[in-house]
Amino acid sequence: MLFYFLPDSIIIPVIIAVLSVHLTSVCTSLYLHRSVTHKGVIFKYPVSLLMRIWLWLGTGVNTKEWVACHRKHHAFTDKTGDPHSPKVEGFWHVMFGGIFLYQKAVKDKVMVEKYGTGSPEDWIEKNVFKRFKGEGLFILLAVYVLLLGFIWGPLVWLVQISWTPISGQIINGIGHFIGYRNSNTKDASKNIIPIGIGILGEELHNNHHTNPASPKFSKKWWEFDLGWAYIKMLELIRLANINYAFKHI
Ligand SMILES: [Zn+2]
Ligand SMILES: [Zn+2]
Repeated sequence: MLFYFLPDSIIIPVIIAVLSVHLTSVCTSLYLHRSVTHKGVIFKYPVSLLMRIWLWLGTGVNTKEWVACHRKHHAFTDKTGDPHSPKVEGFWHVMFGGIFLYQKAVKDKVMVEKYGTGSPEDWIEKNVFKRFKGEGLFILLAVYVLLLGFIWGPLVWLVQISWTPISGQIINGIGHFIGYRNSNTKDASKNIIPIGIGILGEELHNNHHTNPASPKFSKKWWEFDLGWAYIKMLELIRLANINYAFKHI
């Protein structure tokens, strides 16, 4: 055993950590990105509410701030004004300091108001998610400690709360620096790998910049976007309405 103070079985904590970060990618990619920011798909209220609750518990992200920062990224992609372009800020700065670039961008309340339009402003947003913005994280910590104990609980929680900045930095850094391109967009966006499972299809970032309104990120027949597969499943059971999606080539 590597650490004498840890229990023998790491199977349950690892399963919970993997499920947690996967659920975070689902809520970030499907709800924050494809639905609220780009309006390519609209989820039925119970689905969007569950995603919002998880984002509150697991990330501490404010929807309007996230949406505003990302729309500004699309408005100024890889030019001055892009909040987190590796072409402007430098690759390593975005890869290791992306969270600080995000925090700097959303401090600008005029920018958040300008680019965050259409984000939810209902009762639960104002009185729970916004008012107790950071508290959700500590509720989740308490749940993990109850489920997994005082060693594994905080460790799994740390993995969970680290996932949003890590995955964001991969998309914003590598996704504008290393990979292949299907479309000759004016920005430096790249498809990192053709199989989008780990970060739900966000790997196909050049495809996304080609047409942000499409909630489907795969374009070629050999590309796979797990987020799109989930959206089609939700559509099948009438929990999602797809506004527009581009066709496979
Ligand atoms: Zn981008
Ligand atoms: Zn986008």
